[in-house]
Amino acid sequence: MKIALVGNPNSGKTTLFNLLTGSNQYIGNWPGVTVEKKTGKLKGNKKVEIIDLPGIYSLSPYSPEEIVTRDYIANERPDVILNIVDGTNLERNLYLTLQLLEFGIPTVIALNMADLLHKQGIEIDVDVLGKRLGCEVVGISALDGTGVGDVIDAAMKVNEIPCQARNDNPSIASAITQIEKYLENVPEKLKRYYAIKLFERDKKVARELKGVNFKEINNIIQLCESELRDESDSIIISERYNYIERIVKECYVKERQKKAISEKVDTILTNRFLALPIFAGIMFIVYYLAISTIGKISSEWISNGILNRIVPTLQRFLENANCDAWVVGLISKGIVPGVGTVLAFVPQLFVLFFLLAILESCGYISRIAFILDRIFRNFGLSGKSFIPMLIGTGCSVPGIMSSRTIENEANRRITIITTSFIPCSAKLPIIALFAGVLFGGAWWLAPMAYLIGVAAIIASGVMLQKLKAFANRPSPFIMELPNYHMPKLLSVLNSSWDRTFSFIRKAGTVILAGSIVIWLASNLNWRWQFVSMNDSILASIGNAISWIFAPLGWGNWRPVVSSITGLIAKENLVGTFGILYNNWGELALGFTSASALSFLVFNLLCVPCVAAVSAIAREMRSAKWFLFSILYQSVFAYVVAFCIYQIARLTT
Ligand code: GDP
Ligand code: MG
Repeated sequence: MKIALVGNPNSGKTTLFNLLTGSNQYIGNWPGVTVEKKTGKLKGNKKVEIIDLPGIYSLSPYSPEEIVTRDYIANERPDVILNIVDGTNLERNLYLTLQLLEFGIPTVIALNMADLLHKQGIEIDVDVLGKRLGCEVVGISALDGTGVGDVIDAAMKVNEIPCQARNDNPSIASAITQIEKYLENVPEKLKRYYAIKLFERDKKVARELKGVNFKEINNIIQLCESELRDESDSIIISERYNYIERIVKECYVKERQKKAISEKVDTILTNRFLALPIFAGIMFIVYYLAISTIGKISSEWISNGILNRIVPTLQRFLENANCDAWVVGLISKGIVPGVGTVLAFVPQLFVLFFLLAILESCGYISRIAFILDRIFRNFGLSGKSFIPMLIGTGCSVPGIMSSRTIENEANRRITIITTSFIPCSAKLPIIALFAGVLFGGAWWLAPMAYLIGVAAIIASGVMLQKLKAFANRPSPFIMELPNYHMPKLLSVLNSSWDRTFSFIRKAGTVILAGSIVIWLASNLNWRWQFVSMNDSILASIGNAISWIFAPLGWGNWRPVVSSITGLIAKENLVGTFGILYNNWGELALGFTSASALSFLVFNLLCVPCVAAVSAIAREMRSAKWFLFSILYQSVFAYVVAFCIYQIARLTT
């Protein structure tokens, strides 16, 4: 006998599975923990096999987990479905329940979280719920084991009675009954399931069926559609919700007495009108602390400490030690300013990572995803696209990789192309440097950079969807908001240190190597002779292509070359500035505020570093799409920077 555990993510399936089988599967307070099915034997009765399936919100095949679960139920047909329902989220959980009942497989519902229901003052009449749904409902708590014995007993007994989905709407019911008549070759038990799937115009199921008169069936569907004035799949979906709304009202003895604290907080933090201003306010505080106050200190430290004091002292020391001139130069003008400039950003990055880790750990970051989802949806972008974006604020590489969870191919490609528009942590030193040196410590530069990133993603999404290859309907996306927690200091420190350290490690490897190469290339000419910087290899490369960037306001070899070195790693751009300019005064002279803005925006939006580029190549899995991404990012960055420069020049 096979009993399949099916339910929403986070409903307690794995907890129950472990309890029933005595196994030790990973339990997490986060959706998507169980991705594959796991099987185990029932404790005390080895003939019963329990299957833990991935958590899903519906059986529409939108995501890999949904497909795994759906295929398992449809093809293997377990003897019993044990549907775990999170009682504190009854309405949402019942949507899946209704779909499960359509399979006509004997089903028992375990109404989980009895302990939480009690705490929140909710009382649900399991008998009424069971009667309305047409199957047995048992209240349990997988956490403390209450009712678990009863639910297993019920599951073993229910074996013989198949459940059937209820449907109150007469038009739909009659359409489905009519479709069932055309399914002569389908076993009696499966007729209802297939009829509903055909009514929803599920192409996958339609392909499985042979020798069916699709023309007649289509007529039935169209008749029902014109009667109810909607598309058949939406008709079914809204009918399920109507049905749930009705039965849920009947089965509550006591509705929630007091709102959970998280919910109270969320009525403010995710409020339709307040959410964005609050989000902006929180981000302002974070970036004000990290970039403007501490950032200003570190960029001053670079100019006064490293460039004006340490470098000359080191130079004198090396000269006194009778080192060759080129060794003196390489160390004091190449490695030290290159690596040092980058390292000077460590304090503010640590503060930034620390503050962001607090927001993440207390649960606010998932609210941001939720708030942005609402905005994104208006532009036809999938809610799932900003999970990569959110991860991309740390580093584009895992951000781009996380696009794998997006099932819709067109949407996935758009996300891969646009993820690096969001400033990653390596771009922060660039922003901080510009804010400090070129914009007099402007606090607004960092939030503006993120705003430009989000705007670039939305604009690209809207434009790309106009192309045939990217046209799509965004798939629905349900996101669970975990409860707010007090952030745990140790784990916050841990994660902020991890991210800071990977930055430091990069300074010691990639940036170090980059600084050496840049110093050599800026001091040697093509015949390997030491020359002045303006005659160097780097200058000749920069001068050869600087005309391209002249319309952007910075057609000078130094910024052009810095942009190129930024392709190795974005921090490298700052390091290169440290090598190519003797001091920040010189840097400030090289830019107007218009050209500084255009340079910054170009470097935020253009092709990311090699690591991210190779992630794009890996995820696109096609030379054509890879080249398209690179080309699109370059052209987009160029056009935006061009517009910004021209407009800024007019207004200043
Ligand atoms: P799954 O995603 O459906 O496999 O859910 P898990 O078994 O991983 O459980 C998700 C979270 O809910 C975990 O934090 C569990 O400790 C918690 N949980 C599961 N069952 C209960 C219950 O009956 N009462 C309470 N209070 N928490 C539960
Ligand atoms: Mg699980």
